[in-house]
Amino acid sequence: MIGGIIGESFFEILYPLKCVCCSGNLFSREIPICRSCYQKLKFSSTRVCEKCGRSLKEYEHLCSDCAQKRIGIEFSRSCVYYDDISSVIVKKFKYANRKDIGLFIASVMNEKLLREAEYSDVDCITYIPFGYFKKHNRFYNHSGVLAENLSQMTGLNIEHNLISQRWFCVPQAILPENLRRKRPPMFGRGKHSIEAKKVLLIDDVVTTGRTLSDAVYALKKHNKIERVVSLTFAC
Ligand SMILES: [Zn+2]
Ligand SMILES: [Zn+2]
Repeated sequence: MIGGIIGESFFEILYPLKCVCCSGNLFSREIPICRSCYQKLKFSSTRVCEKCGRSLKEYEHLCSDCAQKRIGIEFSRSCVYYDDISSVIVKKFKYANRKDIGLFIASVMNEKLLREAEYSDVDCITYIPFGYFKKHNRFYNHSGVLAENLSQMTGLNIEHNLISQRWFCVPQAILPENLRRKRPPMFGRGKHSIEAKKVLLIDDVVTTGRTLSDAVYALKKHNKIERVVSLTFAC
């Protein structure tokens, strides 16, 4: 009895059984949100830009960024919309040392992987690398954790360090629009390079699409890769 109580509370310290969004009770240990928040998660529709996978208004095939070649994403899809539920999940995963949430995010991403034909013949998985300072200020590279989880779920090899993030890269979000376009490339040569037909690039969220776009450019420039397809959790 006492052992059971101790065991249970110990488990609760490891995995706090509260919804990360509303602190309500969880309905599954594997899912970090409660049933009502889970039901509010908005899964992406099929009306998305053919290339970057972001939402479109009616009667379009490409978003204006892809149509005007402001970003160079070859194929990307996201699982859910970036809203008040998904953003809390992502922020807890990234900034609150909740690596376990990465398992839930990756399992949602894995379902998308299985549904889209474009992902059926990828050779390996890689991810957006961290810059030097980010690496020393955070617990882990969140994109790397998602890629590791997906590698275990799919059996696909994971390739590290195919590109590197430049040291003094200013985060996209704090740059004004006019400077974002003038900034130097975010990524350079990695520690090693590979030859592959199709590589799957993993990140958590796509907003402007420029991080993915720069990563695709660098992956192809510094490796012999024919096509880079990407998958993110939210957009
Ligand atoms: Zn909740
Ligand atoms: Zn697009």
